Amino acid sequence: MKVIVIGCTHAGTFAVKQILKEHPDAEVTVYERNDNISFLSCGIALYLDGKVKDPQGLFYSNPKELSDLGANVKMLHSVKSVDTDAKTIEVENLDSHDVFTDKYDKLVMTTGSRPVLPPIEGRDNKNVFFCKNWHDAQILFEKAKDHKRIAVVGAGYIGAELAEAFSNHGHETTLINSDSHVLSKYFDKKFTDKIEELYADHNVKLELGVRVQKFSGDDELTLSTGDHDIKADMAILCVGFQPNTELLTGKVDMMDNGAIITNEYMQSSNPDIFAAGDSAAVHFNPSETNEYIPLATNAVRQGILVGQNIEKPTTKYMGTQSSSGLQLYDYALVSTGMTVGMAERKGMKASSVVVEDNYRPEFMPTTEKVLMELVYDPSTRRILGGSLMSRYDISQSANTLSVLIQNKNTIDDLAMVDMLFQPNFDRPFHYLNILGQAAQAQEEK
Ligand SMILES: Cc1cc2nc3c(=O)[nH]c(=O)nc-3n(C[C@H](O)[C@H](O)[C@H](O)COP(=O)(O)OP(=O)(O)OC[C@H]3O[C@@H](n4cnc5c(N)ncnc54)[C@H](O)[C@@H]3O)c2cc1C
Repeated sequence: MKVIVIGCTHAGTFAVKQILKEHPDAEVTVYERNDNISFLSCGIALYLDGKVKDPQGLFYSNPKELSDLGANVKMLHSVKSVDTDAKTIEVENLDSHDVFTDKYDKLVMTTGSRPVLPPIEGRDNKNVFFCKNWHDAQILFEKAKDHKRIAVVGAGYIGAELAEAFSNHGHETTLINSDSHVLSKYFDKKFTDKIEELYADHNVKLELGVRVQKFSGDDELTLSTGDHDIKADMAILCVGFQPNTELLTGKVDMMDNGAIITNEYMQSSNPDIFAAGDSAAVHFNPSETNEYIPLATNAVRQGILVGQNIEKPTTKYMGTQSSSGLQLYDYALVSTGMTVGMAERKGMKASSVVVEDNYRPEFMPTTEKVLMELVYDPSTRRILGGSLMSRYDISQSANTLSVLIQNKNTIDDLAMVDMLFQPNFDRPFHYLNILGQAAQAQEEK
C-alpha cells in the first residue's frame, strides 16, 4: 500500500505515526512545504508572554523521527495538483524547483488551514502580520520587541491571548472586533462582560463592533474603520482560518468554505482520499451537524483515525464538542459544546442557567468563585453546552461536561451524578452538580 500524506503539522504527524504503527510495511511518503513539523501554535502567545522560555520546546516531533519510523519525508516540497483518476500528484521541490509526479493508493489530505485574509485595503502593509505557524511566530517574536503600540484585529481565542500577552509586557494594546463582544463564539454575555472588564483593568483598549476597512502608513500604521482611525506600530490579523483544500476543489465533497466532508472513518467522498485536521469538517455532536472547527484537539484525533482506517474501515470517529480553554490574566476560561447564541443561530431550542458559587466551603482558608453556565434543550433536558470562568483551575470541569454531552446526558444526570466530596476540593455537591440542580429548578418554575 503506497500512502501519500500532504501536509505534516499535527493531523499529518499523528496520521503518519499511526499508519506506520498499524501497517509497518506500508510505503508512506510525506510532502511538507515548510521546513518543520509539529509546531504548537498555542505556544506563540505563551512565548510572547514569557511563560515559555524556549520556543524549540514547542515542537514535539521532527522529520528524523518520522524517517526513523519508516516514512519517506520530503520537507520543502509543495504539492501542486492531484489527479484523482490517475491517482497521481504533482510536486515541486522548493529548493531545486524541480517538478515531478508521484503515485498513491491512498491519499491523506492533512493540508490544514491558513489565516482568513479579509478584504481590507492595504492588508499587505509591511506592519501587518499573521499568527499561524512557526514562520509567523519568528516574525512576531522579533517585531514585538521594538513595536510599542500593537493592534490585534479579531477577538477569537488567538486574538484574545495575544492581547493579554502584549498588555502584560507594557505594550499599548488595542483589541478590535467586528462583533460587539470579545470571544462571542465561545461565551455568552455574562462571561464576555466580565472578560471585557478584565481587559479594561489591564489597559487593553477595546474597539468592539468595529470593522477595520483600511491599513495605511509607513512607520506609523493607521487602521481606518470608516468612523475613526486607530494608530499603531504594528497590527496582527486574527480573524479566522480557512481550509487549504484547493487541490481537491470539485473532486470531493466539501463544506461551503472548502472543508472536506468525511464519513466517520475519515474518508472523503472519494474512499481512497482521507482528510483530517484543519482541512476537514468535524461532526459537532451537540447539533449533529458538520461544522468547521479548526482545533488541534480535532486534528490529532482525526489523524489517528486516518491511520486506523487507512486500509479498511475499522474505528469510527466519535465527533466533537469542540471543547476549548484559555487563561486570561489570572482567570481560567473554558467552554464546551454550544452557547445560547450558537444554538439560536442554528435555530435550535436552548435554555441556559447561570450560577456563581464558591468551589469549596467558606470555612476553608481560601476559596474562589466559579461562574458557570449550562446550556440545554428544555424539551429533552439534554445538555448542549457549558462554560466556566474562575481564578481556580476549572479546566477539567469543561472536560466533564464534554463527556456528558458526548453521552447525551441530561440536566438531571448532571444534578445527581456521583462526584467526590472533600472540603479541600468541593462541597457535598460539586459545583457542577449544583449547576445541574439550578437547571432543574429553573425547569420546575
Ligand atoms: C496561534 C494559535 C493558537 C492555537 N491554539 C490552540 C489551542 O490552544 N488548542 C487547540 O486545540 N488548537 C489550537 N490552535 C489550532 C491548531 O493549531 C490547529 O487546529 C492545528 O494546527 C491544525 O493542525 P493541522 O495539522 O490540521 O493543520 P496545520 O497546522 O494548518 O498544518 C497543515 C500543514 O500542511 C502543509 N501544507 C498545506 N498545503 C500543502 C501542500 N500543498 N503541499 C505540502 N504541504 C502543505 C502546511 O505547510 C502545514 O504544515 C491554535 C492555532 C493557532 C494559529
